[in-house]
Amino acid sequence: MAKIEKRSLIREGKAKILFETNQKDFIIQYFKDDATAFNAQKKGSIKNKGAINNAISSWIFQTLGKSGISTHFVEKLSEREMLVRRVQIIPVETVIRNKAAGSIVKRFNLKKGEPLSPELIEYFYKSDELGDPLICLNHIFHFNWASPEEIGEMVKISLQVNGLLRKVFEAVGLDLVDFKLEFGKDAQGNVILADEFTPDGSRLWDLKTGESMDKDRFRQDLGRVDETYEEVYERLRKFFEGKV
Ligand code: UDP
Repeated sequence: MAKIEKRSLIREGKAKILFETNQKDFIIQYFKDDATAFNAQKKGSIKNKGAINNAISSWIFQTLGKSGISTHFVEKLSEREMLVRRVQIIPVETVIRNKAAGSIVKRFNLKKGEPLSPELIEYFYKSDELGDPLICLNHIFHFNWASPEEIGEMVKISLQVNGLLRKVFEAVGLDLVDFKLEFGKDAQGNVILADEFTPDGSRLWDLKTGESMDKDRFRQDLGRVDETYEEVYERLRKFFEGKV
């Protein structure tokens, strides 16, 4: 591939900035330290989060890629920049839950930590304006957000990711409680995993203490936010170094 050059800003989101490059099929994801919660009503920043999330997401997407899961990840370019394939983002997010936590606890009056076995998959409509509402399949097909075949692919990938990553996190003493995934369509119309996989979009509970090791520390003002991101990074670094 010819040398990648960063070009104009495409869009600045809550945690990342996207840039064009000199090649039309590739874009750059820049990871920021900014943190938001409750649909951006709570704003702050987490020390070094951009670098940490870029590293974690790069390791995880490489690992998934090696297991045959197509993702938009191409390569980590610098501390905070990742080169990704350009995709058309599907406006439906999946949330995969192994245990009850967060919104589902309130919605169905469940006990926090209650196992959901087999894992539960939910769909959310990707819309900042509406606060990403929970949706069902009828909405997705009625409004043409994704086809049944595309949803089939998204579910298949979601289950594969869960199977692989539960083991990875267990190996570093973390319980993968739940996580959110986003998908895109590449130039050929294939559904591939996009966005990121980081402690911003997943719940990771320490297997020994049960403590939250993810963005819930920021959302709920649990303290030791910066230190926890650093700790998750360190555990994963030891696991992945030499492997990917
Ligand atoms: N999540 C996310 N972005 C969102 C909402 C949720 O990445 O806009 C992640 C969240 O970090 C958690 C999972 O999706 O790992 C399930 O979140 P939930 O529906 O319980 O919502 P929350 O309680 O975080 O508002």
